[in-house]
Amino acid sequence: MFRADLHIHSRFSRATSKNLTLRNLASHACIKGIHFLGTGDCTHPEWLQEIEEELVYDDNTGFYRLKKPLGTQDIEEQTNIRLKEVSFQPQFVLQGEISCIYKKDNTTRKNHQLIYIPDIETAKKINAKLARIGNLNADGRPMLGLDAKILLEYALEEKHSYLIPAHIWTPWFSIFGSKSGFNTLEECFEDLTEEIFALETGLSSDPPMNRLCSALDRYVLISNSDAHSGENLGREVNIFHAVPTYQSLFESLRRKNAFFYGTVEFYPEEGKYFADGHRNCGICFLPEESEKHKNICPVCGKPLTIGV
Ligand SMILES: [Zn+2]
Ligand SMILES: [Zn+2]
Repeated sequence: MFRADLHIHSRFSRATSKNLTLRNLASHACIKGIHFLGTGDCTHPEWLQEIEEELVYDDNTGFYRLKKPLGTQDIEEQTNIRLKEVSFQPQFVLQGEISCIYKKDNTTRKNHQLIYIPDIETAKKINAKLARIGNLNADGRPMLGLDAKILLEYALEEKHSYLIPAHIWTPWFSIFGSKSGFNTLEECFEDLTEEIFALETGLSSDPPMNRLCSALDRYVLISNSDAHSGENLGREVNIFHAVPTYQSLFESLRRKNAFFYGTVEFYPEEGKYFADGHRNCGICFLPEESEKHKNICPVCGKPLTIGV
């Protein structure tokens, strides 16, 4: 069994740990038994340069790994935990997250999209397109005035690049978010919807909740940590029976084949956006209570944030 955490961040994303280097991420992954890791933030020029300098591409698998393998001492320096031995070297997949903010049908849409890219050369090509739209240096998770459908087109233009909608139910920044989302995937991706094969459930929802929506039946559900520090790696992960290559990893999600086993979940009730409410007003409601209050906060009188 192999564990894969495919949504993480670097120290170049806002509100992330300053320690987030590739060696730090790999060290935490070793301790937690995470075999495959997203690099996070592969749209960020400085981070991509670090990736280029510190990782090496494995022609046989299509994954990246550290040029200088981790030893027990490296791991102890990074995490203060001493392992008896290093039983595996984590492998990396180039991964980024884009915050798409745009108008569609006269409504402002805000959603986060995960992208997976097979190699650094392709990442540079995609980044060049994205850099025409906004500043990739400003944030490891860049905010771009880019329609998510166009981002999907960019991914489809490159062989073996993929887009997966991130934490699909969070209120402020997701495809189904109550504040700025859509009601269906088709509204967002139109004729390209069939190119979407997987959805990230996010920390505040789990597969059984998502499986209540028959519209999502045909999608594979993945879960990741969205870690902003090494300590948070693997709070949710995907389990695979085998992950021979980068291509087979995504093929197993696309074809829902037996290589993909399922996810490890965090209690969704503990997710920041599970319930409705206002944090500053100390209001946290389940849907029945929100309805009773007509979705209005009894403390400040403004509309409640409707959660997952
Ligand atoms: Zn996000
Ligand atoms: Zn994220």
